[in-house]
Amino acid sequence: MGEPEGQKPGGRGVSRRALLIGGGAAAFGTAVFARDDLGRLWWRMPGVVKKRKEGEVDAKGAQWTAASAYNWRRADRPDDYTIDRVIIHVVQGGYATALRVFKDPAHRAATHYVVRKDGHVAQMIRELDVAFHAGDRGYNERSVGIEHEGFVDDKSSFTAAMYASSARLTAGICERYDIPVDRKHIIGHVEVPGTDHTDPGPHWDWDRYLRLVRAARERLEAPGRKA
Ligand SMILES: [Zn+2]
Repeated sequence: MGEPEGQKPGGRGVSRRALLIGGGAAAFGTAVFARDDLGRLWWRMPGVVKKRKEGEVDAKGAQWTAASAYNWRRADRPDDYTIDRVIIHVVQGGYATALRVFKDPAHRAATHYVVRKDGHVAQMIRELDVAFHAGDRGYNERSVGIEHEGFVDDKSSFTAAMYASSARLTAGICERYDIPVDRKHIIGHVEVPGTDHTDPGPHWDWDRYLRLVRAARERLEAPGRKA
């Protein structure tokens, strides 16, 4: 389950964007680029926030349903923070419960995605933004969090449809941010330093999951991109 950001200092407090804003980047932008280039490149300008459209999702096929704004922090990833981890969670409850608590401003935590037993994916927070799910500021800033319907003690929670769908989701995240598909970069909440959370638990089949993510990642790279 997601948990609040916590009080621990992240050690990455000063963002690259903040440093660049001090460097007169705006003048550089207008002087160097022609109007056409600016249209294409404006979002790369330090301090310029990317365009967002309500309801837009990062993962193909995901259904947008917004988390409460109290459960995440607006950011401009991967420009202000490098994304190099995917963190796997288990709800300890159903899909509807996860959506309800992530929409609750008092919960102070949410993941970017929630995967249902039948493979349906909800996106609740944009990957641009920092979701409060790891209980550690630095890990929140560097990661995308995926919640899975079910219980850590119940192996039957983790269906074939859920594994396949979650693996496609993770493969897409790895492709977008050039994250290696391995257990150093795709981790459980339990592996976040200092956490007392145990999810996804002993029944989560990591070998199977990594195999599926690798296969999905290869399909994304293949000509024609059928995945
Ligand atoms: Zn968790």
